[in-house]
Amino acid sequence: MSQTYIAAAGKKEMPLWQKILIGMVLGVIAGAILGPNAEYIKPIGTLFINAIKMLIVPLVFCSLVVGVTSIQDTRKMGRIGLKSVVIYLLTTAAAITIGLFLATVFTPGAGLNMSVEGAAGLGKEAPPIVQTLLNIIPKNPINALASGNILQIIFFALGLGISLALIGEKAKPAVAVFESLAEAMYQLTALVMKFAPYGVFALIAWVAGKYGLDILLPLLTLIMLVYVGCILHVLVIYSGIISIVGRLNPVNYLRGLVNPAAIAFTTTSSSGTLPATIKASREELGVSKSISSFVLPLGATINMDGTALYQGVCALFVAQAFGIDLSMSDYLLIIMTSTLASIGTAGVPGAGLIMLSLVLTTVGLPLEGLAIVAGIDRILDMARTSVNVCGDLMVSVIISKTEGELDTDVYAGDTNKESYQYER
Ligand code: ASP
Repeated sequence: MSQTYIAAAGKKEMPLWQKILIGMVLGVIAGAILGPNAEYIKPIGTLFINAIKMLIVPLVFCSLVVGVTSIQDTRKMGRIGLKSVVIYLLTTAAAITIGLFLATVFTPGAGLNMSVEGAAGLGKEAPPIVQTLLNIIPKNPINALASGNILQIIFFALGLGISLALIGEKAKPAVAVFESLAEAMYQLTALVMKFAPYGVFALIAWVAGKYGLDILLPLLTLIMLVYVGCILHVLVIYSGIISIVGRLNPVNYLRGLVNPAAIAFTTTSSSGTLPATIKASREELGVSKSISSFVLPLGATINMDGTALYQGVCALFVAQAFGIDLSMSDYLLIIMTSTLASIGTAGVPGAGLIMLSLVLTTVGLPLEGLAIVAGIDRILDMARTSVNVCGDLMVSVIISKTEGELDTDVYAGDTNKESYQYER
């Protein structure tokens, strides 16, 4: 009996993020012991980075096409859709700006002085922003896919997705293929991520071996900045929009988001939190059923302010760590790519990290920086997923209010309801 029990208990796998964290801690220790010799285990990390690179193009392409085509049956809600997307985009840009601002002021990566062969000057190789904007339309989409030009790929994927949505019935076979490919890519991502603990171990060992234990403080600063940015975004931007645009008391909004935010914080999946988000928006915030069932699933797919903020902070962190100076057009490129990347991010744990590799690649920053962030990614994921969910809730309230469909009594929280909450 007891043996069966032990065998069963042994089968219960440790969550991936714990393994990655352990990989990181062991990597720091190994690096401290091995010193510059840790260079010899770096290839294991390079394998991991190459595997991530392998995922980017097909993952982004398939998930974006699927994301856009899934909006099709909501076209009848054109106005609401447009309103939501405008708010999504504006708040996302605000989030990245907060991230960039904090990372510029507090320079979390400054102490690291890392170097990668050929990394210096990579940032400068990025073409001027006007050129980037002109180049965003691929003359040859196959070439864009083959050469991994992410902005062009995103543009083509959006165009293809919209067209598939427009042709309705005829699009079904193609949509089914993309849906199945996207699923397969999520699965492949999961498989690659299984290797993450070892990749992170090797890369961190290499970093710690080469640069000593000085890497710890920058990591703590990075965590702190992402958390401060997330809190600021919810308290200033979301609460501000609720009170200025919605003319509502933001305290009720903040009270209503506690449950789903807590679930998002612990599960790090905004898709997984969706049922709780929908429940809270209806029962705590008074959002109408039709609006919550349209705005929230859409938001869980494309509205990722926390992820965008994180990408802004991390991109600068990596640039600072490798001593790469970024120009104004690089900053604009980060804003643009992070916005698009956050739209393409799946609402599942750790997806933002893969998309960060996309932002780094586009701006010409070394992907080795990813390894440093990967070790603490779960901690950052908790904060950014909560913000992603809070953002969706905010949009649902605003749309509901401006459509005259907000139950203000429920929003204000009548006394019966409150006592019910406290009883729980
Ligand atoms: N985990 C996040 C979410 O589900 C996505 C991310 O990794 O940034 O919203």
